[in-house]
Amino acid sequence: MKNIVILGSTGSIGTSSLDVIARLGPRYKVIGISANNNTDLFLKQIHSFHPRFAAVLNPESYEKIKDQIPEGTRLLPPEIDSLIFMASLPSADLVISGVVGAVGFQPLVSAIKAGKTIALANKEPMVMAGKTLMKECERWQASIIPVDSEPSAIFQCLAGMANEHTYHNLAQDISKVILTASGGPFAKRKNSLSTVTPGEALNHPRWRMGKKITVDSATLMNKGFESIEIMNLFDLPEKKIQIVIHPQSIVHSAVEFNDGAILAQLGEPDMRVPIQYAITYPLRMESPVKKLNLFDIAKLEFFEPDFAKFPCLELALTAARAGGIAPAVLSATDEVAVEAFLKEEIKFTDIAKLVYTVLKSTPQTRGDATLNQALDADEWARERAKECLQSKTYKKALI
Ligand code: MG
Repeated sequence: MKNIVILGSTGSIGTSSLDVIARLGPRYKVIGISANNNTDLFLKQIHSFHPRFAAVLNPESYEKIKDQIPEGTRLLPPEIDSLIFMASLPSADLVISGVVGAVGFQPLVSAIKAGKTIALANKEPMVMAGKTLMKECERWQASIIPVDSEPSAIFQCLAGMANEHTYHNLAQDISKVILTASGGPFAKRKNSLSTVTPGEALNHPRWRMGKKITVDSATLMNKGFESIEIMNLFDLPEKKIQIVIHPQSIVHSAVEFNDGAILAQLGEPDMRVPIQYAITYPLRMESPVKKLNLFDIAKLEFFEPDFAKFPCLELALTAARAGGIAPAVLSATDEVAVEAFLKEEIKFTDIAKLVYTVLKSTPQTRGDATLNQALDADEWARERAKECLQSKTYKKALI
C-alpha cells in the first residue's frame, strides 16, 4: 500500500499522476492534493479520489469551493503552510511535486526533512539549491526520484548502480550523460526569433506540458535547467553533461560509462511512463502507454545545440559555473520573464536579455547556496527583474 500526496494536482503532471494512480488500483491511495485555481477540476478530483486533505493556494478559489467539500476530506487554509503540512504527513509514503516554479521549494524541503520519498517534477528548487537539497536528503534519509523525462531516463539507466539517497562517486563510473532535447518548436526556424508569439512558443512539437515549461523548452532554458538539475541530482560535473538535440524525442537520455558502454532509455514521448515509474519504483507495472515501434520510427537523429540561436542555454550553464546564488537568480528571473512574455509585455528574445541583465548584476557568493540564500536570491531576483522590466534596461543587453 502506498499513500500518495500530490502537490499541483490540476497541472499536467498532477492530472497524469492521477490517471496513472487510478489505473494502478487500490494499492495506491491519494491522501492529499493541492492546486492553485482550477477549482472545477480540483473539485472533480476530490470527489473521485476522496483525499483526506486538500488545499488550494488561491484565496478566491478557497472561498469558491469551501462549501462543496465532501465529508472525509478536510480543506486546508489557502496558504503555503498547507502544502508544507501535506508534504510531511506522517502517513505519506510518496510525495509527488508537480507544482511549477519556486513555490514548490518550501514544500519540498518539508518533505525532505520528514524523510519522504519524493517524485519530483518541479525542477526549479533543484536549480535554485540542488546541491544543498541533496545534502539534506542524505541527512534525513529522504529520496528524490526524478519525474521529468530526461532525469528519469538517467535515473532508469543507473538503476542498481546507486541508491537514491546519494550519488557520490557515481562520477567515477560515468564518462558522460547524454541529455537529449527535442529542440522545441524553433529548432529549424531560420528567421529571427524576435517576432515569435506566445501561441507559437506554446506549440511544442513533441510534448504536451504546462505553459511555463513549454516556453522554457522553446528558449532551451529548460535544457539549461535540466543540466543543472542533473549535475545536482547525480553529483556530476558540467563537463560530463552533453546536450544533444534529438528531434524525435524517442531517446529520453542516455548514460555513457567508463568502459564505453552506453545505456539509453527509449520510448514514445508520454509523461505517464516516468510518472508511473516514480510511483511504482522499483517495480514496473502495466501501463496504457503506446509501445514504441522501431520500424515506425526508422530514423533517429542527433544534432549539436545552437548556442547562438538559443542564448538561454549558455546563460544557464554560465549560472551553473558561477554557482552560489546565480542558479536561483536564473530560475526566478526566468519565471518573471516567461510570465511577461506570455502576457505579451516583452518579446520572445527579451527573455534571454532580461535573464542576462539580472544575472550580470547578481552579487557573487561563495560555495553552494544554502536554502535561505536561495530563497532570498529568488525574492531579490524577482524584484530586480520587475525593475528592469519597468525601466526597460534589459533592452540594452548585447545578447
Ligand atoms: Mg524534460
